[in-house]
Amino acid sequence: MKFCPRDGSLLLPVRRGGRAALRCPRCGYEEDAHGGAEYRSRASVENKSAIVVLAGEAANLPRVKTRGCPRCGHDEAYFWAQQTRAADEPPTRFYRCVKCGHTWREYE
Ligand SMILES: [Zn+2]
Ligand SMILES: [Zn+2]
Repeated sequence: MKFCPRDGSLLLPVRRGGRAALRCPRCGYEEDAHGGAEYRSRASVENKSAIVVLAGEAANLPRVKTRGCPRCGHDEAYFWAQQTRAADEPPTRFYRCVKCGHTWREYE
């Protein structure tokens, strides 16, 4: 059992949009019975780890000299090639600036 932190009345279970909550019958104080805030913080941790994985993959790519990043002008970038069109055509070359992270493709 839980009691209202304002006036000490016994909190009663109620439904709020499909989830259980506890409500004070005297002053209207409510709290989430299942700690919904915990779920939200867990989701944001997962988003952060996804970004770390992407950065780690980029670090494994070879670094090459380029004609200059279109955004910041830095001349060193990560390089990879990817087959984006028909199989008999050469693969598209991609570059990601090591300084600002800008990604662009090199056309033939
Ligand atoms: Zn109360
Ligand atoms: Zn750049």
